[in-house]
Amino acid sequence: MTELKQERRLVTEIPGPNSRELFERRNKVVARGVSTTLPVFVTDADRAILLDADGNQLLDFGTGIAVTSVGHADVNVVRNASAQLAKFTHTCFMVTPYESYVAVCEALNELTPGDHEKRSALFNSGAEAVENAVKIARAYTKRQAVVVFDHGYHGRTNLTMALTAKVAPYKDGFGPFAPEVYRVPMAYPFRWPTGPDNAAAEALAQTKTLIEKQVGAHNVAAVLIEPIQGEGGFIVPPDGFLPGLAEWCREKGIVFIADEIQSGFCRTGDWFAVDHEGVVPDLVTTAKGIAGGLPLAAVTGRAEIMDAAGPGGLGGTYGGNPVACEGALGALQTMKEQDLVGKARAIEAVMKDRLGKLAAADPRIGEVRGRGAMIAVELVKPGTKDPDAELAGAVAKHCHAAGVVVLTCGTFGNVLRFLPSLVISEELLEDGLNVIEEAFGAV
Ligand SMILES: *Cc1c(COP(=O)(O)O)cnc(C)c1O
Repeated sequence: MTELKQERRLVTEIPGPNSRELFERRNKVVARGVSTTLPVFVTDADRAILLDADGNQLLDFGTGIAVTSVGHADVNVVRNASAQLAKFTHTCFMVTPYESYVAVCEALNELTPGDHEKRSALFNSGAEAVENAVKIARAYTKRQAVVVFDHGYHGRTNLTMALTAKVAPYKDGFGPFAPEVYRVPMAYPFRWPTGPDNAAAEALAQTKTLIEKQVGAHNVAAVLIEPIQGEGGFIVPPDGFLPGLAEWCREKGIVFIADEIQSGFCRTGDWFAVDHEGVVPDLVTTAKGIAGGLPLAAVTGRAEIMDAAGPGGLGGTYGGNPVACEGALGALQTMKEQDLVGKARAIEAVMKDRLGKLAAADPRIGEVRGRGAMIAVELVKPGTKDPDAELAGAVAKHCHAAGVVVLTCGTFGNVLRFLPSLVISEELLEDGLNVIEEAFGAV
C-alpha cells in the first residue's frame, strides 16, 4: 500500500509511452470483445487517485464502475483481506465453512431494507447474483415469467443478457436468449412522451396492462428493476413509481427484486437506493461496492423466499470467498466509520450545484440527474431531445486527456456518468468538476 498525494498530476501525455507499449502487448493477446475505456495501465492506487505506468496521477471518477466506493486501497479492506490471505484463501463454503461468510450475511440481512426475517447467499459477480435471484423467485412462486424494464442492465451471462435491454454491444450475435423474459416501459422522466410529471403513473399503468393482458400476473415469478438504472443512463424513476410497483407485486404474489448492484452501499446517499422512498424489496441483489474491489456478490431477502431453493440448489465453488468476505467486512466498517452515506449526499450537493450551473449555460446538457455520488448529465442537440453520443464521447476524451477518468453510459450512449469514490476530498471533487467544465468549453 503506497500513500499517494491526493492530487491529479500529469507528467506525460495520456496515455503515456509505457501505457501505449503495454496496450500494444495487450492487443496481441487479449480478446477484442473485452474493451478498454481508457488505455492507461494502473500500477498503484490510493483513495481517489490512480497512478499509471508513466508516473501520471489520474483522478478517478469511475471507481472501476462504482466498485471502489470506499476508495482505492482502503485501510480496512487491505488489512482484513491481507490477514485472511495469509491464513487460507479457499475451502469452499459448501464444503467446510468459515465465519466471515456468516458475518457478511448477518451484515447484509441487517443493512438491507425491512426488519423481516432474512437470509443471504453469496456469489462472485453481479450477473451471478441476478441469475440466482431469478432462480429463487421461480422456486418460491412456482412461476416462470420475469418482468424487466426498458434501459435495464443486469449482466452478460445468458439469462442476464436476456434481462438486459440494450442489444449492442451486450447481446448482438450472442443469442438465443433465455425465454420467459418480458420487457415493460421504464419511467424515464426526461424522455417520457407526455412529460416527466406523467411518467410514474403512466409507466405503472402500462406495466400492469401489458403484464395482465399479455403474460398474466399469475404467471410472473419476479419483477426485476434497478432502483436507479446504471448502464441505461442513470435514470432515476420519479417518486411513486417504485412504491407503486412494489405494491402491485405484493398484490399479485410476484417477487419484487431490486437490483442494487450499482446503486447499493451508500452510493446514492442511502445504504440502498430503494431506501429513498422506503421501498422494501422481497429480494435485493448486491455486488460492485460491497467489498472494496474484491469479487463478491449477494442475494438477500425474505427468509421464506430465499429458503424456497433446496439444499445444493444455490452456491458455487468460489461464492463468498474468504478473502472477499473479509474485504467486505472491512469495506462495511469504513462505510459506517466514515459516514459514507453522508459523504455521498455531500458529493451530490457539490456536483448538482456545479453541473446545474453548467447546464443552465449550455443547451447541450439536457438534464443533470442522479443521487449521491451517482450523478450524470444527458447530452442532446440544443433545443431538442436528440441524443448526442458524439459529444459525450468527445467530452469524455477531453477529460481523459486531462487525467480524469469518466465513463459514458445510456441506451443512446449520450450520458456522461460520474462515480467518484465516496472518500474523495472536496478539493479533488472540485478539481474534477473544473476539468469537466473545461471539457465542455473545449469541445
Ligand atoms: C454491473 C451490473 C450487473 C452485473 O454485474 P457483474 O459483476 O458485471 O456481473 C448487474 N446489474 C447491475 C445493475 C449492474 O450495474
